[in-house]
Amino acid sequence: MQTSFTLAQLADPEIAAADPILRACVHCGFCTATCPTYVLLGDELDGPRGRIYLMKNNLELDEPPGPELVTHIDRCLSCYACMTTCPSGVNYMHLVEPMRHRIEQHYRRPFFDRALRAALNWTLPYPTRFRWALFGAQFAKRVGNVLPGRLGAMVALAPATMPRPTAQERPHFYPAEGERRMRVALLAGCVQQVVAPEINAATIRLLTRHGCDVAVVDGVQCCGALTHHLGRDALDFARANIDAWMRAVEGGGLDAIVINASGCGTTVKDYGFMLRTDPIYAEKAARIAALAKDVSEVMAVLGVTPTRPTGQRVAYHSACSMQHGQRIQAEPRALLTAAGFELAEIPEGHLCCGSAGTYNILQPELAGALRERKQVNIASTGAEIVATGNIGCITQLQSAARPIVHTVELLDWATGGPLPPALA
Ligand code: SF4
Ligand code: SF4
Repeated sequence: MQTSFTLAQLADPEIAAADPILRACVHCGFCTATCPTYVLLGDELDGPRGRIYLMKNNLELDEPPGPELVTHIDRCLSCYACMTTCPSGVNYMHLVEPMRHRIEQHYRRPFFDRALRAALNWTLPYPTRFRWALFGAQFAKRVGNVLPGRLGAMVALAPATMPRPTAQERPHFYPAEGERRMRVALLAGCVQQVVAPEINAATIRLLTRHGCDVAVVDGVQCCGALTHHLGRDALDFARANIDAWMRAVEGGGLDAIVINASGCGTTVKDYGFMLRTDPIYAEKAARIAALAKDVSEVMAVLGVTPTRPTGQRVAYHSACSMQHGQRIQAEPRALLTAAGFELAEIPEGHLCCGSAGTYNILQPELAGALRERKQVNIASTGAEIVATGNIGCITQLQSAARPIVHTVELLDWATGGPLPPALA
């Protein structure tokens, strides 16, 4: 795609980063077929190629974003299926996320939209605030959830029961069982530790059982993904985490920073790009990003051998941030198979389930349509259990029909841990 930025525009680091990405796009349109919003809406401007055109025009004309651009960028899930499909290697993520920031800086949304986004950003990355917000949502649910639209969608996502706060989110060191094979830090996360603390507990048991020293490092907070996808500045989260993990790196070394929510993993692995122009943090950010690993990548190195009979038929739902954001496809499937489960492939597995961070709150109709489509595809596998590696998908795909658990909960159970609560 030809671009026509002036030299003055190219002096802006955001434009300088966008220009080669735009030029890599050859308008072939292969990406449209795998874009969930294009599949649902059939509108070129709700597919990646159309969005790329809109962004290019906006940047070239150096205009404030208008309602048309905002509508189509807001409908984008940031699922990055288009990046997996693109034969030209167009890095759509590095176009759309800066555009979300540009929109937040230069576009005045309607009052309710602004208030909702501000409330989500104030609440979700902070476990204590989020816990209180969930108590409110549970109360609204109990009295019948009469709230309309996006507020109703938000309340509907609240879990029926709230787990108690647990100890494993606090800074702590968990020694390896037996001979030490790795030394890792675990990102305890924000939303996940409130709604499903059993995932961190299973991760710590699984890693220590397989020879990892595991540290939950003091000073580490939310990875910043939710704030980043809302178009707001998440760099303070990134800098705080980099400082905390660098202390651990310099204080004894780390083989990996283990992340068990793939949405968070995609963001931490992108810290190097996010802070590329920061003279103090650029190098450290690249180092931390290189250490970041999904728990399935680490367990693929360590290997699993089941110690109890398993054999259940498991539909593995590959989260977009796992398969498209991090290009991790084989490891979770191989681990589940090695642990003795019968793996079922979900048709249309490349399509998002509609969770996508805060998308299921901000775009409830599209998210609901994608959830229904995914549930039908899951049902067609005849699986007894659904496994995935991202808390957003677990929340989105909760169903009375079959339990959904994190992959590590199944691996932990198969290798000697307790039965996952969702299977009890
Ligand atoms: S597949 Fe890649 S090159 Fe083709 S239109 Fe989509 S983004 Fe552009
Ligand atoms: S990120 Fe997902 S929703 Fe957005 S354009 Fe790409 S494929 Fe479509």
